[in-house]
Parts: sequence; C-alpha cells; structure tokens
Amino acid sequence: MSYAANNSIKKIVIVGGGTAGWMTAAALSNALQQGCHITLIESEQIGTVGVGEATIPPIRLFNQSLGINENDFIRATQGSFKLGIQFINWGRQNHSYFHPFGSYGRQFDLVSLHHHWLAAKAQGKADSLDSYCMAWVVAQQGRFAPPVTDPRHVLSTHDYAYHFDAGLYASYLRQYSEAKGVLRIEGKISAVKQNSISGFIEAVQLDNGQLLEGELFIDCSGFRGLLIEDTLKTGYQDWSHWLPCNRAWAVPSERGEFTPYTKSTAHQAGWQWRIPLQHRTGNGHVFSNHFISEQQAQDVLLQNLGAKALAEPRMLQFVTGRRNLFWHKNVVAIGLASGFLEPLESTSIHLIQAGIAKLLALFPDKDFDPLLTEEYNRVAIREIENIRDFIILHYKLTERNDSEMWRYCAAMPVPDPLTYRIEQFKRQGRLIPGEMDLFGNTSWLAVHIGQLNTPQKTDAVLAYRSIEGAERLAKLSQALQAAALSLPTHQQYIDQHCKAASL
Ligand code: FAD
Repeated sequence: MSYAANNSIKKIVIVGGGTAGWMTAAALSNALQQGCHITLIESEQIGTVGVGEATIPPIRLFNQSLGINENDFIRATQGSFKLGIQFINWGRQNHSYFHPFGSYGRQFDLVSLHHHWLAAKAQGKADSLDSYCMAWVVAQQGRFAPPVTDPRHVLSTHDYAYHFDAGLYASYLRQYSEAKGVLRIEGKISAVKQNSISGFIEAVQLDNGQLLEGELFIDCSGFRGLLIEDTLKTGYQDWSHWLPCNRAWAVPSERGEFTPYTKSTAHQAGWQWRIPLQHRTGNGHVFSNHFISEQQAQDVLLQNLGAKALAEPRMLQFVTGRRNLFWHKNVVAIGLASGFLEPLESTSIHLIQAGIAKLLALFPDKDFDPLLTEEYNRVAIREIENIRDFIILHYKLTERNDSEMWRYCAAMPVPDPLTYRIEQFKRQGRLIPGEMDLFGNTSWLAVHIGQLNTPQKTDAVLAYRSIEGAERLAKLSQALQAAALSLPTHQQYIDQHCKAASL
C-alpha cells in the first residue's frame, strides 16, 4: 500500500497553448494547489487554430470552478450569450428549427409534453414545437437574461452558454494560469525523449536545445498530436464516411444582427456558422471537398455573409474521428490532439472540459496504474461517440435531395445505436437516453422533430388522459411570450453588465 505524497507527480508539461492548453493549465493550476510544477510550451511560429467561438452550457461550470466572474469574462473576451442554435435549411430548404438550451416548458403530465404536442398538432391545435420553449421565445425576440432560480417560474426553464473570441479566451486563461504559477515557455518542440524500456515520455526538446523534463505530459498540440500520435503512434479512427465534411473556410465580418444564438445554415455541400460577438461576427463554411471545390465553397461563404468581411477567408482542414486511445502511457491528449468532430453542436471546447474533468477525477501518481488509464479511455470513447451520433443525426435525417452530399447523407448507413434511436422515435416517439450522453432528451427531441422525423404514433398512455393538452400548450405559449417581453434585449443586457472596451 502506498499513500505517500512522495509518489505524487511533481512535474507536468503541457504541450500547446491553444484553448485546450490554457484551459488545462488553468484547471490543473487551480486544482493542484501545491507541490507540482506546471510548464506550458507553445510556439507562436506554429500558432493556434484560432477558431472555436461557440459553446454549450457546461462551460459555465468550468469557469465557475476556476472562480471566474461571468461579467468580467464576457467583457474580456468580447463575448455574447447563446440560448441555442438555429438550424436553417437542414430538414428541407426554407425550413428552420431551434435546438434550445433548457427545456420545452415544464412537464405538466406523466405523458411527455411532446406527445401532447404531437396530438394537438395533428388536430391543427398547436404551433411549431419551438413555440413552447422559453429559450427560443426569448432568442427570437433578441432578448437575454439568465434564468431565474424559482423553479415555478417559466423563466427558470431556459439555459445558456457563451460566444467568445477564442484568442481572447486563451489570453484570459493564460493570465489566470500564470498568476497561479504556471510557467510558459515559448519555443518549438523538435524532439521527444522516451524511456527506452517503458516508452514513457521523459522530456521534450526545443529547437534551441533546451530540454524540458516531465512526469505527466498533456498533449494539447492540436490536430497533429505531437506526443499521442507522432511519438506514441496511438492510431486514429476516421469517421468521414458518416461525417463527410473535411474543411472549413472561416472569416470575420462586421457585426450585423446581434442574435443571442448561433445560426447554422445548410448549403449544398456543407453548412455555414454565424456567431455574433461584441466587436465582430464569426462566420465559417464547413464543407466536404468531395462535393464542392474549395473555391466554390469560399464563394458560398462570401455570398452569404450578409455583412462586410473584415479579413481574407482562412481555410482549415480536418479529418473527423478520434485517437484509438486518449490516454496512453504518461500522455493524455486533450483538445484537437485527441480527435475532432465538426463544430455543428459546438462540442469541441466541451470535450476539452470533459477531458480535464476526467483527468482530475482519475489523477495518477507515478505508478500510472493502467486501471486509471483504462477507465479514462472507456469514458472518453463513450462520450465522443455519443456526440458523434448526435451530429450524424442532423445529416441522416434530411429530406433534402437537391445535391449529391445530401443524397449521400440521407442514404448512408449510420452506427447501430443511432439507427435504433431513430427507429424508436419514428415509430413510437420514444426518446432513448444514451449512457453518458452529453445531449439529453430535449436536444434529441429538438433535432428529431426539427429534422422532420415525425413519429407515427403518440404515447399509448395518452388514450387514458382527460387532460386537454392543446389548452395547456396554448397557456404555456402565452406565458412564455409574456415572460420574454419582461427581459432586456441582448444588447441592453450586455451594455448594463458586461460591455467590452471597443478595440
Ligand atoms: P490549437 O489551437 O491548434 O493549439 C495547438 C497548440 O500547440 C498551439 O499553441 C501550437 O503553437 C502548439 N504546438 C503545436 N506543435 C508544437 C510544437 N512542435 N512545439 C511547440 N508548440 C506546438 N469548438 C467549439 O467548442 N466551438 C466552436 O464553435 C468551434 N468551431 C470550430 C471551427 C473549426 C473550423 C474548427 C477546425 C474547430 C472548431 N472548434 C470549435 C474546435 C476548437 O477550435 C478547438 O477545440 C480549440 O481551439 C482547441 O484547439 P487546441 O488547443 O486543441 O489546438
């Protein structure tokens, strides 16, 4: 038995200073209060991916765990608030829906609200599902305020996340981490030294010859995976056959409409994001070069900006998939080094946060018990595969047949657990919660209905109900509309609480 602190890890090296590197540095420096040296190496010459501006609600917990004040953070990152994502032209052209943060109204019966809605809708007595959701009603009116704490109030039923400037977020966390003792080294790693027997990494060497030793290495080096792949050759699972997009053009534009939500507009061979910040709007066209040329994809982006571009478009390439192992020997890969899912549901930064949380929950000592590694990988694989399936759902459930990519997606076979969930919903309107699924029933419901997977039946228990679902829904809709009108606009909320200095 060994409880001794002298077996504890005392030197951690984080390779990379993008969002992943600085989030990891901030969280580790906060959690490991004493007795551990944390060094972060980054190379300005290589730079960061520089995108990643939309998030999902758990990011708030991450910031809270670091003791970060929300208003201060929004101010420092030119941030804005996000109540969900509007999907335009996804199910079919000229059709849209909202994936909300929060819930649809509040459950008023044992039978799920969406079954009451389906029944009312079939009788022509209900509006779109979105109308029964606080987040959408608030978003549509261009308003924002955090939810109230009283659970009886409809204004407690929405949730929110942030949009922010990725570069400013990394700088903010860098300041935080350095104040907690993290040592930042600027330089390019040109060699990696491994133990000749165990293969564990012992040190990394910079191109100026400096050797940096460590006991635990966090690989946040981006797509390349300097340690996890280049050195440890962990291997990669390619998921492009389910998610064919493999490139994105990104360009900032003048701000335009200041929506408290992200927009995702489907095009002929991909989709376009629109993320409003205080000082500009982030835009990008995620596409597959099998279905459209790079030049055409750039043209599509520029033609659909709706505001003046502020820079030349920049193209990023990626291969959707994951490493075979996220933690191997004494290397834990976090961020793009561990794998990539396109930003359709803004999940990459969340996966960084989830990686950090798992690392802290399973933190090793110098023994590196393989059981810890095994558990980390087991959970990490489950998490990313659930998210993968949720993203595939958007592509698979489409009625679009106007282009080769949409025809391919509608016809492609999908992973078995996803086929099962689609069938359950299609035939019976049942939502099947997945084990360790980041996205809960509300999210799956929004996308099934939004992508026009209308159930063939409603819950059989409805037949035993005297409750008038349509009436309840009408009252709910009125309550939501009235409550939303009491909130400030998104701009007013920011001006009052967290306006950033102009750049
Ligand atoms: P990077 O930003 O690439 O950082 C890698 C770091 O490693 C850099 O500091 C680099 O200098 C350093 N490095 C590499 N090699 C060496 C070396 N040899 N020596 C020294 N240093 C080295 N996520 C979201 O959550 N929401 C979004 O809306 C979103 N949109 C995206 C859009 C696109 C098109 C893409 C591609 C990604 C998007 N993401 C999004 C993902 C998000 O950008 C990343 O998860 C996030 O930025 C983390 O990147 P990273 O830190 O892992 O890698």
